[in-house]
Parts: sequence; C-alpha cells; structure tokens
Amino acid sequence: MFGRRLRGRLKSATMIPRPSMMAPATPLVDRLLKQAKLRRTPVRAGVLDVLSQSPRPMGAVEVLAKLPPATDAVTVYRTLNTFTGKGIVHRVRGEDRIWRYALGNAQAAAAHQHPHFVCENCGKVECLRDATIPRGLIESLGIGAKYAVHYPEVVLHGVCPRCG
Ligand SMILES: [Zn+2]
Ligand SMILES: [Zn+2]
Repeated sequence: MFGRRLRGRLKSATMIPRPSMMAPATPLVDRLLKQAKLRRTPVRAGVLDVLSQSPRPMGAVEVLAKLPPATDAVTVYRTLNTFTGKGIVHRVRGEDRIWRYALGNAQAAAAHQHPHFVCENCGKVECLRDATIPRGLIESLGIGAKYAVHYPEVVLHGVCPRCG
C-alpha cells in the first residue's frame, strides 16, 4: 500500500525546516469538525487548517509537509479518508493518479459542485469554484434509467493559465 512509499518520502521531508503549526483554533476548523461529528485532535485540526489555507487541492504528502515534524503519515492518510467519507473534504486525482484533497463536499447541493482542472504540463490540480456544472448534465448524457447517478464529477484536462 501507500505506507512504505510515503514514509520513504517523509524522511527527506523532515529534514526541511518549517514553521511549527500547532493546529490553531479557527472557527472554520471547529465548525467543520462539528459538522462531521468528529472529536478535535491535533492532526484533524491541523489537516483542516492546512487545507483551508491552500488555494488548490493538496496531496497527502503536501499536507504532511506543512504539519509538525512528528506527525504520523498514516494518521494523515486516515484523517483525509475520514474527512472525505464525512463529506467535509472532496478529492480529485491528478495526472499522476495521486489523490488531492480540498475542503468542501463533492456531493453537496448542485450549486456547490464545481469542475476540476488538471494541467497536463505542470500537473497542478485546481478547484474551479467559480465554474458550475450544468444542472442538466447527467440527463444530457443519455444514461439509462437503471443507473442511480448520485452526482457528477467533472475533471477537465489541458493547460493551465500559468503554463499557457
Ligand atoms: Zn500548468
Ligand atoms: Zn474541488
């Protein structure tokens, strides 16, 4: 599984000095934990805090690099999975097939759904939060009634503004 590879990469990451971020008490973090009915732990609060400050979805390794050096990689993976399951975080895969995580619920009301963009050049993944997935998208695909579609996931592949 991912454990060994992540730990290998973690070793070099811990050599880099970084500001110690001890999970500050922010209203957003507390609200999300309450929404998910999860107890506040330093890792949970830290992961949400890191994601809340990122302009784009982040991979687990990137999140880990911004947490205190002693943070356990596997706990961060589990935490991201828990958040995704609870619907306070959504995830999208990049060109490298690695999951990136961002705040927000992929299955939220249609108004809150957004497409994602994956740059074929730099590999960055973005939440296109200002764009909307058309309400009639699923109907327009002509899918048989036998399929119970819960929500669409739209990932656009191309060249981002920085690379274009
Ligand atoms: Zn790019
Ligand atoms: Zn997103």
